[in-house]
Parts: sequence; C-alpha cells; structure tokens
Amino acid sequence: MSWEGNVRKVVPYVAGEQPKEQDVIKLNTNENPYPPAPGVAAAIRGFDCDVLRRYPDPDVSALVEALAKRHGLDKEQVFAGVGSDDVLAMSFLTFFHSGRPILFPDITYSFYDVWADLYRIPYEVQPLDDDFGIRKEDYFRENGGIVIANPNAPTGVAADRSVCEEIVRANPDSVVIIDEAYVDFGGESCVPLIDRYDNLLVVQTFSKSRSMAGMRIGYAMGSRKLIRYLNDVKFSFNSYTMGAVAVAAGVASVEDEAYFAETTAKVAATRERTKRELARLGFVFPDSRTNFVFAAHRTVPAQEIFEALRENGMYVRHWNKPRIGNYLRISIGTDEEMDKVLAFLEAYLRDR
Ligand code: PMP
Repeated sequence: MSWEGNVRKVVPYVAGEQPKEQDVIKLNTNENPYPPAPGVAAAIRGFDCDVLRRYPDPDVSALVEALAKRHGLDKEQVFAGVGSDDVLAMSFLTFFHSGRPILFPDITYSFYDVWADLYRIPYEVQPLDDDFGIRKEDYFRENGGIVIANPNAPTGVAADRSVCEEIVRANPDSVVIIDEAYVDFGGESCVPLIDRYDNLLVVQTFSKSRSMAGMRIGYAMGSRKLIRYLNDVKFSFNSYTMGAVAVAAGVASVEDEAYFAETTAKVAATRERTKRELARLGFVFPDSRTNFVFAAHRTVPAQEIFEALRENGMYVRHWNKPRIGNYLRISIGTDEEMDKVLAFLEAYLRDR
C-alpha cells in the first residue's frame, strides 16, 4: 500500500477548449458575445485597491442584497458564490447526504456526475424522451435529491415551470435543485415558486446572460432554511469565497436592468435567426430557449463538421457520447459571427 491508496480519486470535468489565439470565433462555451454592463467596467476602474488589504465581506452582503431586491426575495433567501459551479458543488455537498441515489437526466450538464463521484453520492440517470424532453414521472420515486438544468444543457430544451413544480411538490423529502444557468434567454424561471416550497433551490449565474464568465459569480435562491444550511457548509469550508472586486462588479451588473434586458433580447433574436438558417442548411435541432443551439445535420456527421469548423478558426462543442454524438452545440455569438459561421457551413456543405 502506498499513499496513493488514500487519495480521493476522481475523473475531472472537461471544460470547453479556451483557444490561445484571439482571432477565432469562439462558440464552444456559451459565453456572451457582448460586454458586461458599462457600470461593471466603471466599478472595476474605480475600485479602491487599498480595500484589498482587508478580507472581503464573508456574507457578500452587498451582492446578496442587490440580488434579493432584483428577484423580490429577502436577503436570507439568497446565497452567492464563485460561479454557479461553486454554488452547485456546495449545494451537492450540503443537500445530497442521504445515501440514497440522486436523480438527474441522462443528457445534461456533465458536471453533475462529477460532483456526485467526488462526494461519493450515488446517482441514477433518468433518460430524456426522444425529443430530449424531461419525463416528470421518472422523478416521482424515492431518491436522495434531484438536480435539473432548466433550460437543459447541452440540449437547450426548456421544461415549463409547471413540470418543475410537480417534481418539487412530489418530493417533499428531497431537495430539488433547478439549475437556471440559461433561463434569461427565454426560459420560465422557478423563482416564483420559492415562497411555496421550502425544498426548492434555484441556481443562476452571471456567466451567460450577464457576460461575466471571467469574473466567476453564481448564486442560489431558496427558503431561508435551505440558505442557512448552505451557509453553514460554506463557512465550514472557506469563509471568503468571493473577492471584493467581484462583489463590486456583480452589484454594478445587477443595477443595470435595462442593459441586461437589451443584451439578452439581442442574443435571443440572433438565436432565432440562426435557427432558421440552420434549418435551411439541413440541420435538425430541438427548440432552444438558451444562448446555444444543439444541432445535428441530416446527412453529414457532426465530427466532420466540427473538425472543418475548427480548422477554420470556428470553435463549437462536440461530445462523443451515446445519443448525442451526432450533435454540435453552437453558442450564439454576434450577428456578424453567426453570419460567418453560417456562410462557412453553407459553402462547406455544398462543396464537400
Ligand atoms: N450550469 C450549467 C447548466 C452550465 O452549462 C454551466 C456552464 N458551464 C454552469 C452551470 C456553470 O457556470 P458558471 O460556473 O460559469 O456559473
């Protein structure tokens, strides 16, 4: 026996590639093509660096209060962290501790099984239907917790709030996490249900709709009780998760509702146009309400298109996995970026 027998071994999550070149069209990690709200740059430029001598506010009060106000909640119903990955990882650690298997769809955010493995949480995946829709009945059974991305990734498919509500209502003995990373591009949020169900935790992020993936801000909203338990675990792990600069930048973003509405609408409009063009080029895809489209070509294999795009400086995401191996997940960029990609695809599919 060596020390290696004592290591917590895990197979890590694989994030989308971050190419070093600057002049590529990067549509592989669902980033927002528009800059953060102007107030964010102003907050960072005006940040008093002397403040950095001190530890940041462990309660992240300024950001938590801004988010509570934005969502019509009390500050005791909001928890903020270092991206929603941090918030979700903390939530798995806090709420999925029964020994019973947690449930999530077979095709979904591929970090869920990684956290489950990391924490030794048993899990059972539930197959999506043939249209990549969630089958609510699969979640009406004994479990140690449920996590559902809505809209789902990488499919882009959104479930109605009423479907999520039925799952939450059917599981009073479990915490149900709804991961709303993409909800701002046209999904139906479960935040209005929070006051009715104390076992519902809704997680959102600044990485997509707020154009701040590089800042690392995510948050959870739920009953006071859930948020208290989450904070107990956080304060047993690392009191100072969020830096002072991130908090100031986050507050500035939340304060500019008009810019948020404008940029999310712009991305959604480009997505609708992209869908029409992709359909014209022979792609099929489930209806997306996110900032990406999950598309398969009727005749040309995804791997082939993926490589052709990549060779031409256009990055999309492709997984060699059961059921989705012939799909490409194409994030929505600016209109100009989408025009270039669509023009390339048109020529490539014609001439190959
Ligand atoms: N949830 C889903 C469904 C995602 O696709 C992502 C982005 N990879 C995240 C959570 C995490 O995003 P972040 O940590 O940047 O908030």
